[in-house]
Amino acid sequence: MAALWLKFRALPGFIVPLILGITLIFVPYMGLGYAVTRQVQLTILLALIVTGLNLSLGYAGELAMGQVAMYAGGAYTAGLMSKAGVTDIFLQLLAGAAVALLIGLISGIPGLRLGGWSLAMTSFFLILLIPDVLSIFKESTGGRNGMTVVPATILGAPLDPATYYILLCVVAILWFAVMRNIIVSRNGLALQVLKRSPVLASSMGISVFSMKLSAYALGAIPAGVAGVLFANLDGYISPEAFAFSFAMTVLAASIFGGSASVYGAAIGAAVLQFGLNQASNLGGWNIIITGAFLVFGGVVFTGGLAGLGTSLVKKIDNWAAEKTGTTKRVLTTDSTSAATVEVGYLTGAPLVVTDVSKAFGGNQALSNVSVDAQPGKVTAIIGPNGSGKTTLLNMISGFYKTDSGSISLDKDQIAGLSSFQVARSGVSRTFQTPHIPEKLTVLEAVEAGRIGSDRVSIAGAIFRTPKFRRVRGRDRMETERALALVGLTEQRDMEADALPLGQRRLLEVARALVANPRVLLLDETASGLDEDELEVLEALIRRLRNAGLTIVLVEHNFQLVLRLADSIYVLAQGKVMAHGTSEEIENNPRVKEEYLGIAAEVDVTSGESDV
Ligand code: ADP
Ligand code: MG
Repeated sequence: MAALWLKFRALPGFIVPLILGITLIFVPYMGLGYAVTRQVQLTILLALIVTGLNLSLGYAGELAMGQVAMYAGGAYTAGLMSKAGVTDIFLQLLAGAAVALLIGLISGIPGLRLGGWSLAMTSFFLILLIPDVLSIFKESTGGRNGMTVVPATILGAPLDPATYYILLCVVAILWFAVMRNIIVSRNGLALQVLKRSPVLASSMGISVFSMKLSAYALGAIPAGVAGVLFANLDGYISPEAFAFSFAMTVLAASIFGGSASVYGAAIGAAVLQFGLNQASNLGGWNIIITGAFLVFGGVVFTGGLAGLGTSLVKKIDNWAAEKTGTTKRVLTTDSTSAATVEVGYLTGAPLVVTDVSKAFGGNQALSNVSVDAQPGKVTAIIGPNGSGKTTLLNMISGFYKTDSGSISLDKDQIAGLSSFQVARSGVSRTFQTPHIPEKLTVLEAVEAGRIGSDRVSIAGAIFRTPKFRRVRGRDRMETERALALVGLTEQRDMEADALPLGQRRLLEVARALVANPRVLLLDETASGLDEDELEVLEALIRRLRNAGLTIVLVEHNFQLVLRLADSIYVLAQGKVMAHGTSEEIENNPRVKEEYLGIAAEVDVTSGESDV
């Protein structure tokens, strides 16, 4: 039994949904009757709309409810086209998708630019706008009375109900395939990172704005397509079908099915459609039932039915693994194998910070700080808590704007660039508090670091172009190598955010390395590491330095800094208090006194310093 399960699990993940999708095509021939077939049709339409919401809500983390407006856009496009004599269903589908996309862009750009809840507001507003827009163009849309849609044609022949049904199923299967390809690609990974930590995403070279916009606008396409198909279902459309309550149904289906899931849309749509159909027999209870689904879905299970399914599958996996004798071991960071992996050829670039100042209100966090970090060198920045070390890294990586001063990378100015642009120009970093998105495996969390390099378009991911496959192969290779470099190979399939602190820090180093950076910024990476991990880190930094990378090391472990650094900057209250080699800093009386807390000894031989 267990072995059979494992064999089944070894099949590609899309097999079961594909079989279910193909089975749908045969529903009308199963003798279930017209009523059931109609419910299935409405479920498919709802599922298409819900996938769009899932892309923005579940994946990009933006509550954006414009899908109903896009659905209406598609439906009226089909209606108006048929009125004008363009009855070809493929032309209507194309036009409907285009109109929906346009609605997505028009509402998405200002909504996302303003940030916060603006997109939710603008998209809700869109829905309220539908009846008004339709009555303004009453002449052609029929306003409140709705309009009849001339039956469509397919390849010149009339689109009869049987063909219509097959078309609907095929469109849905194709769209779910597109969704799945996006989600399993690095774009899907980028969305998952973005949703959980926009800061992390931008530090990896992802533009938060364009990624969210892509997700929202892409989600318009299935809604527009569903609209066209809906218009051709009954041959009649009216504003009633696109009411606010329908938007709530879409939201409830998304949450109930599991918004961060590809197939959750189909599950949620089925539950809501069949559930509401039962409810409407009771009369007038629709919105209340929808609300109940929303509350229940939101409170009882956060991942929706799809989430429940996934955790059930995981449980069975564990059970099967136990039965077949795959036992768990305690995994430690492997320092011996880490040392044997090639670091590869790294080209560092000089990073020069000149006279940078930064104040937060009245708090002068940095004043005229200059730091010169060269390729093939470890440049350490030390100083007491609150002296401005992290702020300096944040200025370099573009999270904060400088008040004055300049920052150059290989002679290009990077001060003033957005953080994702700085990342793309070759600056990778780790964080003082590791940013590890939940629910990703170690492998995925590290692989996410590749998103900013070797970029492939979403179209590449959808159609799995040769370039996409090539890049994907490289992603995997680089990720495995980086994992080996930090000694985390054995942890690759574990949940990343469940790792102990030391391993999470090493994971961040691996994630920074897969981007093939020119400059690596490490913020207190050694704190929380055990001895083995420290050994791995120290040896790795040495090897990266020798390979030619520019390394900026912010660190509290003074002994580690003395061993590793080629040049040390001591910060105190936002100013560079001392700068020199390890030897010079170790013997600097002011550093001893103020930073290390050791009373300065009177030493006539090494009294000078370059403060
Ligand atoms: P370090 O990393 O050396 O411990 P930080 O760079 O984190 O120090 O902080 C330097 C100073 O800047 C502190 O006084 C801190 O409170 C302040 N600071 C840092 N970030 C912010 C922020 N986003 N807003 C306001 N003050 C900040
Ligand atoms: Mg700090």
